[in-house]
Amino acid sequence: MACVSFPYDAPVSQTLFDRASLVTPGGVNSPVRAFRAVGGTPRFMVSGTGPYLTDADGREYVDLVCSWGPMILGHSHPEVVAAAQEAVARGTSFGTPGEGEVALAEEIVARIAPVEQVRLVSSGTEATMSAIRLARGFTGRAKVVKFAGCYHGHVDALLAAAGSGLATFALPDTPGVTGAQAGDTIVLPYNDLDAVRAAFAAHPGEIACVITEASPGNMGVVPPADGFNAGLKALCRADGALYISDEVMTGFRTSKAGWYGVDGVAPDLMTFGKVMGGGFPAAAFGGRKDVMAHLAPAGPVYQAGTLSGNPVATAAGLAQLRLLDDPAYALLDAVSREIQELVTGALTKEGVAHRLQSASNMFSVFFTADEVRDYDDARKQEAFRYNAFFHSMLADGVYLPPSAFESWFVSTAHDARAVERIAAALPAAARAAAEATA
Ligand SMILES: *Cc1c(COP(=O)(O)O)cnc(C)c1O
Repeated sequence: MACVSFPYDAPVSQTLFDRASLVTPGGVNSPVRAFRAVGGTPRFMVSGTGPYLTDADGREYVDLVCSWGPMILGHSHPEVVAAAQEAVARGTSFGTPGEGEVALAEEIVARIAPVEQVRLVSSGTEATMSAIRLARGFTGRAKVVKFAGCYHGHVDALLAAAGSGLATFALPDTPGVTGAQAGDTIVLPYNDLDAVRAAFAAHPGEIACVITEASPGNMGVVPPADGFNAGLKALCRADGALYISDEVMTGFRTSKAGWYGVDGVAPDLMTFGKVMGGGFPAAAFGGRKDVMAHLAPAGPVYQAGTLSGNPVATAAGLAQLRLLDDPAYALLDAVSREIQELVTGALTKEGVAHRLQSASNMFSVFFTADEVRDYDDARKQEAFRYNAFFHSMLADGVYLPPSAFESWFVSTAHDARAVERIAAALPAAARAAAEATA
């Protein structure tokens, strides 16, 4: 653990964390929230408005996490809140089809050309899990290729990120995932088409699908090299495997049509989550009609969900998507660029070796001088510098991801005042990063 000092305390958050730790493992319902990587007390948030979050101690922060992406219009956007409130007043769940889910599916199909049909689910994990099952059911094949450092939710078969080199069979990353569950998963280094080629050569006709983050944001931001996604698609096509693009993070975030809108490579299946739920649990997978036709009740591959297409979540998601027009994305890109320049300017001024990497309006900082093209590169960074940087920013009212291996997120609500507050916090944080020791 790096030697990081915590320059102020958060007594109410600490009390809540103590209570939480008695009744919930580690005190949180999703691990990275616990601040284990950066140390210190996680902040318990009580409200959010626009680009700001307020914690239980009454301290306000400029939020550069945005609930890990979903809050792309900022917190408590009036039109999203109104859509949810109207839906709630009509009833919160029916367990029947409803018009809201049709409208949301139509919006997704209209925005993203490769998605001819879509099935709604409640989390990104469910979306990728179901897409993998469908790919296996459609092809009648067992093996799945994924890339080290890409996260696809906590699907058993995909919690295998260890192992490198060519076509190594993965060992599970976590107890509770059996060798049988992960044994059909082949983990390859990201941005390495030769490794993918070798995997297909070693297992011809056995690979059901290649799943990749459309542009990875779960090892920090590591965009695909020119031609990487197109190369994946071509290799899949040649062998009869499906190409699955996981756009849970990038979908409706990096452009109106997500990363597909940026690189134009049409996948066979895609997965979505985060932005499309407007802050509620809504996610989806979709793609080629002939593949989707294999899903129950149209076809034999089973998939279901009690709260799938929930009327409140679909109303909020649809309201959010309808506000995400071209000017909204131009605004996101501009504010993201502005913050990126401020961050790199402050670090450069203090002589801190770093790489700022971006994928449209997503970006993150690696504390290394070298380009980061894959997970091994990402892990070479001096993460202890991030931890010092993080705590300095937090103390000065800017909430960053509590890990050096996560994307930062902006919203259309990040206005000049929010950017000024970030700018004001950066010099001290850059100095803290410069002075940090392992
Ligand atoms: C967040 C994420 C997931 C998992 O989504 P959950 O809603 O957390 O289950 C899957 N894939 C990617 C690329 C993600 O960023």
